[in-house]
Amino acid sequence: MSLRLGDEILNRIMQSVKLDVSEFVSARYRDPFLIIVATILSQNTSDRNSIKAMQNMERLGLTNPQAIMASPPGELEKAIRVSGMYRQKARTIRDLARHIMTNYGGDIGPMISKGWKDVREELMSIKGIGEKTADVFLLFYMNAPVFPVDTHIKRIASRLGIAHGDYKKVSHELLEIFFNKRLEAHLYLIAFGRSYCRARSPLCSRCPLLDMCDYGKTFVKQR
Ligand code: SF4
Repeated sequence: MSLRLGDEILNRIMQSVKLDVSEFVSARYRDPFLIIVATILSQNTSDRNSIKAMQNMERLGLTNPQAIMASPPGELEKAIRVSGMYRQKARTIRDLARHIMTNYGGDIGPMISKGWKDVREELMSIKGIGEKTADVFLLFYMNAPVFPVDTHIKRIASRLGIAHGDYKKVSHELLEIFFNKRLEAHLYLIAFGRSYCRARSPLCSRCPLLDMCDYGKTFVKQR
């Protein structure tokens, strides 16, 4: 797969989809700790719900490891309930805060000043932080050479026939295709998955990528 293919796909999507970066919870923050927390909250729920959970945390001042570790029992859970799986997510956020307090005296700076591969490994040593969550942080904050794959991106890649397999394989193949514009491609593919290439009822007949999509051509023929 070539970079030219990536440019072609991305250009067509950019001409058809309006991107509002503020709709992506992980893109709303510049503070590295908050980017990781926002990404944990976004697991298995919509950005809208995780944005509400972040706003609740901000209202309570739960925006740094110290405040989270000092918060009364149940307060964090209550604040993030709207994002679903809140007990598990609260445990992960507390484990992250504890990790930063114990190993770095509460300052995430030294942790993320390491090479991106070490940061990835360290983040993934915390229960509840998987490949996708780590990669979102690495891409958004460090512009590391990674390509986070969510359900929209996996579906689009498979339908277009440009990447198949497990997370690692799809991520690697998409990184090759979109390497120079990986952040834009990540965001635009998700926006495209929400508007055109939806899980149910994709808008294939109006899709800007129809001529390069066998799945879409079959889908249009059947209708
Ligand atoms: S043609 Fe249909 S299936 Fe193919 S990328 Fe477009 S919306 Fe998705």
